[in-house]
Amino acid sequence: MAELTPMMKQYLEIKEQNPDSILFFRLGDFYEMFAEDARLASRELDLTLTSRDRGKRAKPEEEQIPMCGIPYHASESYIARLLAKGYKVAICEQMEDPAAAKGLVKRDIIRVVTPGTVTDAACLDEKTGNFLCAVYADSRSAGIAFCDITTGRAHLTAFTGKDRVEHVVNELGRFSPAEAVLNEGAYSETALVSALREKFRCRVENAGERRFLLPQAERSIRRQFGDEAWNRLPAAVPAAAMALGGLLSYLYETQKTDLSYINDLDYYEQGRFMELDLTARRNLELTATMRGREKKGSLLWVLDRTRTPMGGRCLRSWLERPLLNVAAITRRNGAVAALADSTIDREELIAALGGLGDMERLIGRIVYGSAGGRDLSALRSAIERLPEIRGRLAAFPDRRLQELSEEMDVLEDLGERIARTICDEPPFSVREGNLIRDGFHPEVDRLRHILKSGKGVIPEMEARERERTGIRNLKIKYNKVFGYTIEVSNSYKGEVPETYIRKQTLAGAERYITQELKELENSILTASDRVVALEYELFTELRQEISAASARVLKTAAAVAEADALASLAAVAVRNGYCRPDVDESGVIEIKEGRHPVVERVLKDSLFVPNDTFLGEKESRIAVITGPNMAGKSTYMRQVALIVLMAQMGSFVPASRARIGVVDRIFTRVGASDDLAAGQSTFMVEMTEVADILRRATRRSLLILDEIGRGTSTFDGMSIARAVLEHCANPKTLGAKTLFATHYHELTELENSLPGTVNCNIAVKTRGEEIVFLRKILPGGADRSYGIEVARLAGLPEKVLQRARQVLEELEREHGVQYTAPRKEAEQVSLDAMSEGEVLDALRRCQPDTLTPIEAMGLLYELKRKLRQGDGHG
Ligand code: ATP
Repeated sequence: MAELTPMMKQYLEIKEQNPDSILFFRLGDFYEMFAEDARLASRELDLTLTSRDRGKRAKPEEEQIPMCGIPYHASESYIARLLAKGYKVAICEQMEDPAAAKGLVKRDIIRVVTPGTVTDAACLDEKTGNFLCAVYADSRSAGIAFCDITTGRAHLTAFTGKDRVEHVVNELGRFSPAEAVLNEGAYSETALVSALREKFRCRVENAGERRFLLPQAERSIRRQFGDEAWNRLPAAVPAAAMALGGLLSYLYETQKTDLSYINDLDYYEQGRFMELDLTARRNLELTATMRGREKKGSLLWVLDRTRTPMGGRCLRSWLERPLLNVAAITRRNGAVAALADSTIDREELIAALGGLGDMERLIGRIVYGSAGGRDLSALRSAIERLPEIRGRLAAFPDRRLQELSEEMDVLEDLGERIARTICDEPPFSVREGNLIRDGFHPEVDRLRHILKSGKGVIPEMEARERERTGIRNLKIKYNKVFGYTIEVSNSYKGEVPETYIRKQTLAGAERYITQELKELENSILTASDRVVALEYELFTELRQEISAASARVLKTAAAVAEADALASLAAVAVRNGYCRPDVDESGVIEIKEGRHPVVERVLKDSLFVPNDTFLGEKESRIAVITGPNMAGKSTYMRQVALIVLMAQMGSFVPASRARIGVVDRIFTRVGASDDLAAGQSTFMVEMTEVADILRRATRRSLLILDEIGRGTSTFDGMSIARAVLEHCANPKTLGAKTLFATHYHELTELENSLPGTVNCNIAVKTRGEEIVFLRKILPGGADRSYGIEVARLAGLPEKVLQRARQVLEELEREHGVQYTAPRKEAEQVSLDAMSEGEVLDALRRCQPDTLTPIEAMGLLYELKRKLRQGDGHG
């Protein structure tokens, strides 16, 4: 240490306190990184590595410290890249003006930026919350806390019992955190850590026990959220408080700023939201598709027509947290109904919400002190819209919408204060002036006047000097290094008066100053410095004033967000022809003409065929669905799950009528989910998922089981499928509502022996060797499979198909069964009636206004084709 320069000593001391962050060390206009940090940053950010002497004496090569730097004003994009790679960045600033400092400039960490605590818009997705989470787990209980510091909201829950960690993992799915802080107990749970790392690409930190101690937790929770919030936490499950305490401790340490605006704590117990495990979320493609992980093609993509980022985040959170309480659901879908009913009022509300901006994140940045003039202007424009939104909400005949109107504060005082202070088009930077409105502050006006008139004097002086010296091309110029100078070209050099002092020599000219010019320059520059400093002061004063009102802004923003999400659900419901479901505790799921919300939106050259569903408490609790590949079994089962989920989030549903008995969880076992990378075979994954479902499901759950037992030999598979089905059907073992798709059409026999089980199949029509998919679900089982026909559709060579048929016949002879028998039931179905119904239905649902002429033409052809099929001319 003794050998080091004072600055390197300072650097090392600060680095020692932040060993796990990359240290951005401010040196003039740069952030510099040294040693290991420099090596790492140069690799990750493609920066050139240079070096700096470690100490006073000249050193050989190995004594040089590697270093690299970035300009401070461009730091945001570099920080964003490091965060995306899972690093933390500690920002070390100069705490005093280097020009005024005596000796070494004082430096300190002002903030540690981490993936879960970043507030910079460049690192965030508008419509997705950015969550930091903390997990505390021990041998009895587990608590998990989430916080989005861009909006100041925190969520907390806890679990006991042997499945506690699994529940914690399921909670992660609701928030998809960007960063997690774990105690030792939680860190030792490999399933939790690997879910965090692999499923959420989340930064994980083992923070030890120190952050999670109960007495400290109590103190910080009381201080942050108030005594009442503390009293609401379960005394018997301290893990909740300890997780939240851990979260706060991490925030205090990294943010080093006023966090008082984080004061909204949502503590929820098990039983408030439908629980969905990560597999179900993925399979049902709630917020992203399974393949591309894109929003397009997901349920959220269909439902999200929100006009503000905060509305988008609210809607997403509803989708991530479907409700269980019938009254709460009815309250929400009642508001959607009121909005759906009056088109004009709704459209006007939506128009008023359009482009309102992100009040939540704006206030977050204001509180954080990172907001600029433009942010304040944006807040002002948002505030200007509030009275209209408030008025429009009050006009709807619905209690919830009126409540939202009452919860809104139109924030007139703040809007006016900003309008009075900040000019119409403030610059990006807050340290360059031109921010404060003329007439707001007399001193700003006075300094600006000096500046303006001072600059006005320059041309006058120029004219005067030309006349006095007779130098016709004399010019007064300004540049940053030399300030104002008089420029005289070389041909007139000899005529320059003695009072001119030479300042700079150029190729064809000389530059001079005079006493008078120097004085003028001084007054201009002083005025300029002073006005910039004063404007900044006035600006920060305003920012602090608004930040003191953050609670009011956040409350209003929450009401606007909810109104936006409700209006979005209503607009989608009307546009897509959804109905308001009856939600109750009956345990019955009855859907008339249900559709798959996503598939119906993406089908291009055909119409979606609606289907009914009935799953009762006793009868028809289990539906065994058979039908060939490609018939639409998966689509049908997912459609039922999605309709139930939509109903419980408070949305309307794609059906003509629906009665939804609330379900506590939805489980899915669908297709081959590729976990091969994790070293598991397809069959192993399938069985693990089934095992989980059978362990966790309750009588109130909805199970979607697609082709259980597919991944092994026929007899094994069929036996497993049958045993699983029996387990689900029996109220003594489970008795949950189950949709069970299978290729083992032998399982249809169970209808006769297993109470509560019914068969249905998805109709197909064969025409010679061709197969036509009717997409209609009918009672009764399929009595044969159509694998070979589907294989033909897929283009398998004719020779292979013939051989397959031969083998099939041999097998049939061997086993004494006939799979290829003609299917009587299907032929009895009246295709006429069905097709007519379909055509009428399609007409009812089609909205001519939204069709292009070509699409209308296509539809017409399609309808005619259907009619002809129905008439038996097909
Ligand atoms: P497999 O057994 O091979 O998985 P499947 O019976 O589960 O097949 P799906 O994947 O559900 O079949 O459906 C196949 C395709 O049929 C879907 O991608 C969709 O385009 C179309 N489809 C399914 N249901 C309907 C419907 N009700 N109306 C119109 N098209 C449908």
